[in-house]
Amino acid sequence: MVSKIGAVVPRWKTITDPDQEYMRLALDEARQARLRNEVPIGAVVVLHGEVIGRGHNSSITLHDPSAHAEIQALRSAGEYLGNYRLVGSTLYVTIEPCMMCIGAIVQARVRRLVYGADDPRAGAAGSVFDFCADHRLNHRIVVRRGVCADACSSLLRDFFAGQRQRRDGRAG
Ligand SMILES: [Zn+2]
Repeated sequence: MVSKIGAVVPRWKTITDPDQEYMRLALDEARQARLRNEVPIGAVVVLHGEVIGRGHNSSITLHDPSAHAEIQALRSAGEYLGNYRLVGSTLYVTIEPCMMCIGAIVQARVRRLVYGADDPRAGAAGSVFDFCADHRLNHRIVVRRGVCADACSSLLRDFFAGQRQRRDGRAG
């Protein structure tokens, strides 16, 4: 592929990574959460290349401690398929899931988990716990981490910085 005369784009740059494409949709969901003053985390569920579920953090809006992005996306995928088992699916989420969400991901029999940024405080896919590789569970999940990690973590960082600023503004 030649973009201008004499300049050849390396072949690897022309190959798009489908995981990045789906992560962009999860990032769109995260922005939806931010608009509602929820912690900006988003998720989508994909089966055979089709987006079958999407969701974002809604705990505050719904008064529901379980309304994390992953759970919302799994619920919407389950409704779409008419089945709580999402066999063969991939879940994309902007931040490493917590232990509750990994539990739900296992229950749904999700095949692959792709996430953006690590969560060193509560991550249960390798950071604090590692339920994806726990041999005591009868279902194991293939994990890919670090997809669009910068975009995913900066969304979160900016959100918390904004919150601190507002809080400090009130205090002053
Ligand atoms: Zn969670």
